[in-house]
Amino acid sequence: MSEFGPQVTWIHESESLPNTCITCGMFTDRLVKARARQQHQKTVPASESNSMQALGCLLHLLGPLGLIIDAILRHGATGNKTIEKTVVSKSKVSVPCCRLCASQSTPEPTESDIALGKHAFESHPRFTERLRVMRQQAAEQMLRDE
Ligand SMILES: [Zn+2]
Repeated sequence: MSEFGPQVTWIHESESLPNTCITCGMFTDRLVKARARQQHQKTVPASESNSMQALGCLLHLLGPLGLIIDAILRHGATGNKTIEKTVVSKSKVSVPCCRLCASQSTPEPTESDIALGKHAFESHPRFTERLRVMRQQAAEQMLRDE
C-alpha cells in the first residue's frame, strides 16, 4: 500500500473516528453525512400481476364458467415461483470532513456493505493512520478490561 495518495479504508458505522478530515487529513471536529448505496439481488415470491387480478374479477362476474376458466388460468400462474429482483439499499454514515473539503464535495463511499454497516472510503493517509492507532488502543483497552 502506498504511503501517499488516497487509500481505501473500511469504516464501521458505529465506531469512533479520529478528529481528522477524511479528505485532506487536517484536524476537524465536523462530521458530514455520507450517502451510501448498495445494489443486491433478492429473491422474492412472484406475485400475481394486476392484470391477472383484474381478469380474475371479470371472470368471476361470468359465474361458474368464469370460475372454471379462472382456476385453469391461475393453475399455471401460481406455485412456488420466485423472481430475482435488484434492490437498492440506502444508508447514511457520518465521517469527519472539514468545512473546506465538504464545500467542494461530500465524501461518498466507494463501496458499501449496508447489512454489516461497513463502508469503504478513499481516505487521507493521516486519517487511515490515526484510525489504525485508535483501533489498536481500543483493542488494548478491551484486553485490559478482561
Ligand atoms: Zn478537509
